[in-house]
Amino acid sequence: MERTLSIIKPDGVERGLIGEVIKRLEADDLKIIAMKMIHMTKAQAEGFYAVHKQRPFFESLTTFMSSGPAVVMVLEGENVIGRYRELMGATNYKEAAEGTIRKEFATDIEKNVVHGSDAPQTAAFEIAYFFNSFEIVR
Ligand code: ADP
Ligand code: MG
Repeated sequence: MERTLSIIKPDGVERGLIGEVIKRLEADDLKIIAMKMIHMTKAQAEGFYAVHKQRPFFESLTTFMSSGPAVVMVLEGENVIGRYRELMGATNYKEAAEGTIRKEFATDIEKNVVHGSDAPQTAAFEIAYFFNSFEIVR
């Protein structure tokens, strides 16, 4: 069993895509074991994306991620990290496969609606960044 962190980013919440994303998770049998709405501060977004600190898009990305409410979830299942990344599609929506969340809904390489962890180690860091053990229900 694996766990991953999912975020419906501020653009997804603003555009009314919470239900659309959750519908796709449930349709693909990705079990939601924690969920809440947050509004990250700039500092919280910077800590979350610390791995990208040196990237040219870091400033813009962390401003965007702290620009409005987001929905954070923990998903659990076999190979859930890869399965959820498949549902999301490539980072750049222009390169994302047909039928993926980013292909259908992203408007920009930055405003790409959803986040998903990319490996077990990053998933563990990202889940602990937003949830304590009492908030994870299973
Ligand atoms: P992913 O979210 O697919 O794991 P990354 O971890 O590489 O992608 O990047 C984190 C987030 O930073 C992306 O989801 C996107 O919002 C933003 N981003 C990535 N690359 C760029 C870029 N070249 N220009 C602007 N924003 C970017
Ligand atoms: Mg990433």
